[in-house]
Amino acid sequence: GKIVIAIDGYSGCGKSSTAKAVAKALGYTYIDSGAMYRAATLHFLNHYLLASNPHDVEKGLKTLEISFHLNPETNIQETYLNGLNVEDEIRTMRVSENVSQIATIKEIRRELVAQQQRLGRKKGVVMDGRDVGSVVFPDAELKVFMTANLHTRSVRRQAELLEKGELVDLEDIKKNLASRDQVDSTRAEGPLKKMEDAMEVDTSDISFDEQVKAIVDRARE
Ligand code: C5P
Repeated sequence: GKIVIAIDGYSGCGKSSTAKAVAKALGYTYIDSGAMYRAATLHFLNHYLLASNPHDVEKGLKTLEISFHLNPETNIQETYLNGLNVEDEIRTMRVSENVSQIATIKEIRRELVAQQQRLGRKKGVVMDGRDVGSVVFPDAELKVFMTANLHTRSVRRQAELLEKGELVDLEDIKKNLASRDQVDSTRAEGPLKKMEDAMEVDTSDISFDEQVKAIVDRARE
């Protein structure tokens, strides 16, 4: 039968492209939980709301509406914030540099985790993030923890950003990935950590197809 696959790991190690390919191979639904934190961050930035101010957090959450819609031309799920397609904007450095702070806020995590749990109610789901195997779906049948060395991750991320027209210095990307990992691993609520029952996949030296196959094979067991 269909299962739930939780993929967690460090920033920029290819979780989302891997999760997408795994979902495609199995005929499952892919859900990008990071996109939801990114959309929330864009919302707070756009409205000059501060994550450090409880009134702002309340106000921000009240007016925050995130959804995913399939682009029929590309067959790719895209992220919408209050009815607007923000798929590209949430991947910019401006959002990357603010998202981990937003993601430390307990009230924001509670709201997004609840939405993620609703989205994943049906089996046959692959979700990637930082706390999917620990908080969102602690009972997931398959948990994956992805890692890769910082240099490899930064080079890949730089190429992705360039493809979208954003030229960013490699050192700035390294700093951003390292600082997000630090904040994400040390926060009080839903910190990033490898669960004991998670399968570890280090993507530094294996090909994309190999990592996808390793996970798909395990899911079929
Ligand atoms: O997955 P992605 O790198 O797009 O996530 C962006 C940020 O969102 C992470 O660095 C983290 O701060 C936050 N996040 C989180 N919990 C998740 C997914 C993402 O805190 N489940």
